[in-house]
Amino acid sequence: MVTRRARPVRVLVDMDGVLADFEAGLLQGFRRRFPGEPHVPLDERRGFFAREQYRALRPDLADKLASVYEAPSFFLDLEPIPGALDAMREMSAMQDTEVFICTSPLRKYHHCVGEKYRWVEKHLGPQFVERIILTRDKTVVLGDLLIDDKDTIQGREENPSWEHILFTCCHNQHLALPPPRRRLLSWSDNWREIIGSKREAVQQDPAGPGLLQE
Ligand SMILES: [Mg+2]
Repeated sequence: MVTRRARPVRVLVDMDGVLADFEAGLLQGFRRRFPGEPHVPLDERRGFFAREQYRALRPDLADKLASVYEAPSFFLDLEPIPGALDAMREMSAMQDTEVFICTSPLRKYHHCVGEKYRWVEKHLGPQFVERIILTRDKTVVLGDLLIDDKDTIQGREENPSWEHILFTCCHNQHLALPPPRRRLLSWSDNWREIIGSKREAVQQDPAGPGLLQE
């Protein structure tokens, strides 16, 4: 017998800039380590890669900035983005909702990878460690929504399965998104409504994997 059963909506949540405050930690670390050097205040950040903006300011600043986020305990010590931890707990307890943390490690992964795992365990607990997807290419990951602060997400898959919700961060706040792209301004914004509308859409999609053989 073939019955239709609702499948859960799958939400992929990025880590840096969405759960962990990478930009604030980077600026603080840079100013502490290089107090005599010029810096870019957060409200003047433009472009996803901070390193490139520092390079434009003065070429040698790019490597100095990178040395801050490549250092041990940088990722582990990042502060949570306001509201992120509560939102993750609430989201994962919602009916018909699957939550994964989908994060891209640095190419210089030596400290970053382990510390990302430790950060998740410390702030969200071991059940979320089970939900970590580490990838340099998010387009090949299957999901319905990807909440991410990177403005353009590209990879091997030209048509990713997820809808990208741009999470507002200092470096992307001035970008005008062409419709129908959607933004989440912060974790105080309407993330429940975005997930709810997507859940409805996936459960009504007759071509989706809601058709189960029983
Ligand atoms: Mg990010």
